[in-house]
Amino acid sequence: MNHFQRRRGVLHAEDIPLDELARAYGTPLYVYSTATLTRHWKVLERSLRGMPHLLCYAVKANSNLAVLSLFARLGSGFDIVSAGELYRVLKAGGEPGKVVFSGVGKRDDEIAFALDQGVKVLDVESAEELGRVSVVARRLKRRAPIALRVNPAVDPKTHPYIATGLRESKFGVSVEEARRLYALAAGDPALQVKGVAMHIGSQITELGPFVDAIARVRGLVRDLAREGIHLAHLDVGGGLGIPYGGEEPPHPDVYGAAVKKALRGFDGEVLLEPGRVLVGNAGVLVTRVLYRKRNGRREFVVVDAGMNDLVRPALYGAQHAIEPVARPREDEIVADVVGPVCESSDFLAQRRRLPEVNGGELLCVRSAGAYGFAMSSSYNARPRAAEVLVDGDVARLARRRETFADLTRGEQASPPARRFGTRRPIG
Ligand SMILES: *Cc1c(COP(=O)(O)O)cnc(C)c1O
Repeated sequence: MNHFQRRRGVLHAEDIPLDELARAYGTPLYVYSTATLTRHWKVLERSLRGMPHLLCYAVKANSNLAVLSLFARLGSGFDIVSAGELYRVLKAGGEPGKVVFSGVGKRDDEIAFALDQGVKVLDVESAEELGRVSVVARRLKRRAPIALRVNPAVDPKTHPYIATGLRESKFGVSVEEARRLYALAAGDPALQVKGVAMHIGSQITELGPFVDAIARVRGLVRDLAREGIHLAHLDVGGGLGIPYGGEEPPHPDVYGAAVKKALRGFDGEVLLEPGRVLVGNAGVLVTRVLYRKRNGRREFVVVDAGMNDLVRPALYGAQHAIEPVARPREDEIVADVVGPVCESSDFLAQRRRLPEVNGGELLCVRSAGAYGFAMSSSYNARPRAAEVLVDGDVARLARRRETFADLTRGEQASPPARRFGTRRPIG
């Protein structure tokens, strides 16, 4: 369910026609719906009623401050993967005590920043990291709240680039290694064992892998309890998929019920780290058609949004529904929708059946709220797009379009020199 619907033929974001937003803010333009974001968060929240729980929105999916602030006001926690994301959460008014710090490569300064701010837990992903967290905590004279991220070795049946719980993925530690590390951590006064975490992948469209993974982690939790190590929380991660096109992922209600069932009898708190499922279908990318062209038998629609704006099709072969903003024509074409970037992988869709469109018209790329702007870049010296958050008939510019000056910020054509080594300094 989302709030990007046609009214009198024209696609709207809530009560505002997308063509009016394009006129006001230019293209390419990311548009998010407050009603959809709120609804998605509340549906998932309700699905866990009756069990102590905390939703920790996965910031990396969409880290715009206005989006984070909306979730913070709903009472959300946050899942972060860098100190920069913690900075964003704090700036948006999020509570550090509801922040889970995940990630396989935390630097000492990131660990220190998280401990200073008082995050809920650091999800540790290796023996060496556990050692570093302990060293940094001692240096700061703090006890670091930790969980181990366990790799439950299940196949999430998703794209290989977003499967993270396979036995040989870089993420987490095996159940066997976790046992050993929990014993180590329990005996370390600089560490406070809080829980256990898992995250098996993204855009998962079946319940089976989640249920299997939770069962494995629960086995570990029981064994640890027998050894006197009691965990206060079990973090089941994120990864629930959304319908981009043909997929039929479980409804968040059904997913929540399955998580609850798999955790029946666990007397701690359950944490969820949903990203895509909250924001994916709450955002669209509006782009203007520049040209039509044909090379050989291949038909192209050249638009002003490129892989620098939305990289998912190039990176994962992701399928985003694309529709005209205006009332769709009856005639159809089969075309590649391509951007201006000088790479052959710069496409939003290939061999896609679309209603006929001409230069100057607007297209709406759906389900672009997750891993859209967040993964964008200024490759080809293309200023990054603007982001707008709509609420009813009100739009707010959540991020202004970048300017040429933004493109070169921090650079100098003749940078000041600094000589290294033993020769005398530049005079
Ligand atoms: C990316 C990520 C998530 C969110 O994944 P989605 O598929 O967007 O729900 C949650 N937890 C961790 C540790 C992640 O890296």
